Amino acid sequence: MDPAEIIARLDDLGRQFEARLEALDQEQAIRACQAAYLGGKGEVTALRKLIKQVEPAARKTVGQAFNQVKERITHATGVALQRLKESEERAYLEQPVDLTLPGRQPRGIGRLHPISIVMHDIVDIFVSMGFDVASGPEIETDYYNFAALNFPADHPARDMQDTLFIKEGKTLLRTHTSPVQIRTLLKRPLPVQIVAPGAVYRRDDDPTHSPMFFQIEGLLVDEGVTFAHLRGTLETFIHKVFGKDVTLRFRPSFFPFTEPSAEVDIQCISCKGSGCRLCSHTGWLEILGSGMVDPNVLEEVGIDSERYTGFAFGLGVDRVAMLRYEGIGTIKLFYENDPRFLGCFRS
Ligand SMILES: [Zn+2]
Repeated sequence: MDPAEIIARLDDLGRQFEARLEALDQEQAIRACQAAYLGGKGEVTALRKLIKQVEPAARKTVGQAFNQVKERITHATGVALQRLKESEERAYLEQPVDLTLPGRQPRGIGRLHPISIVMHDIVDIFVSMGFDVASGPEIETDYYNFAALNFPADHPARDMQDTLFIKEGKTLLRTHTSPVQIRTLLKRPLPVQIVAPGAVYRRDDDPTHSPMFFQIEGLLVDEGVTFAHLRGTLETFIHKVFGKDVTLRFRPSFFPFTEPSAEVDIQCISCKGSGCRLCSHTGWLEILGSGMVDPNVLEEVGIDSERYTGFAFGLGVDRVAMLRYEGIGTIKLFYENDPRFLGCFRS
């Protein structure tokens, strides 16, 4: 096969392509035209098969000619698409504008997100009981999120299913606000009495779980702290949030960082305990997790667990918000940020 002939044909194809492009003013047509030359069944591609029949010495030159025509077609396509975009923009700007049309009503001044409203209210209640507000980073290390909190190395919470790792086994998005307990105990002198509100992250994603949600952590460490203090604190809190006549119960549970541990339920605020959909007909609603700080956690941060004791608790802000604003079917509504939904809450 004569190399000069192939090169001449490639040149023809390039010219032919540019001529056809002239007549096109639709993006789809321009792209289809390009495909008719460079695509898998395109004309240039078909010609490339002939390269095997060219004598080896001339193959390099022919190969370069292929690259050139490919570049030529790609470049011409780019120029045509750009020209098309510019002319569309021009047409848009040249549209007549009716300056007499009424403007859009402003939505009014911004307001607090319902989660923020509930979070502020909860924090205020604890502040009124003498708690300080503490915070910590959302990107945590395995040490603060798990190891220092007495999670054994093989604990299932470390599993990829639950934890969003940034670097496996090293850095992660915190799965709870509890690392703030460790950070605070390392930083502040005793007694420590804090609440730590903030975002936490897990792999859950279904109608009742969001991969990001908000927790409030509480911690009190001092001499002579007992379970009675924990119970009194949480009872006061729940009565302030849900009303004085709400009954609560402590149910034995397990958390690596507290011993003993208890989950706290309140009597269903909807059916008052007789059973309904909200409480899955149990009459009770799970509201928070709590317990006495495990001596291992205190020792880990250099606190004498013979002399000091403490309690800790954690609750889901979204959970409280769902109960406070009854009728919200899914937690996700809080995070979709639809102004029609957010506009329903008074700050
Ligand atoms: Zn109920």
